[in-house]
Amino acid sequence: MSDQYIWKEILKIVDNYNQMVRAELLNRWKKWQLDLTNPEIYEVVGALVARQVTLATQLASTQSIWNGHVAPLILRTMVDTYITLAWIFEKPIERAREFILYGLGQDKLYFEHIKKDLKKSGEDTDNHPIVKDMEKLINSYRFADLTEINLGSWSGLNTRKMAEEAGCMEIYRYAYVPFSAATHSTWNHVSKYNLEPCSNPLHGYHKIPVDPNLPVDISYLYRAVEYVEETFVLFDTKTNVKGDALSSIEMFYKSIDKLGEEEEQKQDKS
Ligand SMILES: [Zn+2]
Repeated sequence: MSDQYIWKEILKIVDNYNQMVRAELLNRWKKWQLDLTNPEIYEVVGALVARQVTLATQLASTQSIWNGHVAPLILRTMVDTYITLAWIFEKPIERAREFILYGLGQDKLYFEHIKKDLKKSGEDTDNHPIVKDMEKLINSYRFADLTEINLGSWSGLNTRKMAEEAGCMEIYRYAYVPFSAATHSTWNHVSKYNLEPCSNPLHGYHKIPVDPNLPVDISYLYRAVEYVEETFVLFDTKTNVKGDALSSIEMFYKSIDKLGEEEEQKQDKS
């Protein structure tokens, strides 16, 4: 079986996965009984679960980033989103509200900086189109008046503490921490991915900067697919929603296994 054939098949599986995972998201949303006295929970939880699907489908659709340079940035955000969601589910009404207020506060802060800079450059800030647009946007938010600008983290805790409280220490230790090295470009990442030994033995094997192309590694896609599934399981457990869409992860693994078997059979024959 040629590499070209395998790639064509993998892209078909990815297309199918993207459609199915979106259908699963929609199915859960439809089955979730709305309680409009607390719309924040639905909006926050819905947005975070949808975010996981977006991150996974974007990663799935971009094979050139299935490598250690870039995929960890997306996977780390997925783990972060998972921990946030798990922590919100512990006290959903209160925390969904805090989550919204923090986000609005960030928008307000950004807006204040822009206004200050416009004023400094002598602009009429009250009538400036940027200011008017942003004011309109901020005033359209529910709770706009309540919003205080909070400079810490939105939950008042660091991610480790949130993971601890929400019972997610395993994913924190084995995924969040290692992927964070890529996100923050710390030494344990850059020394492995962006340096290689100088070939001149007279130089004492110092290292030189490189930007290597890495081979495509499908295991990064497996991780994204698994994080979406874990998010769905978390959602189902906390909301008691019984979705009935076909499972995207089952289709994904079955199709990959089938492709692997086909390849083995072909190799046996040759
Ligand atoms: Zn050298």
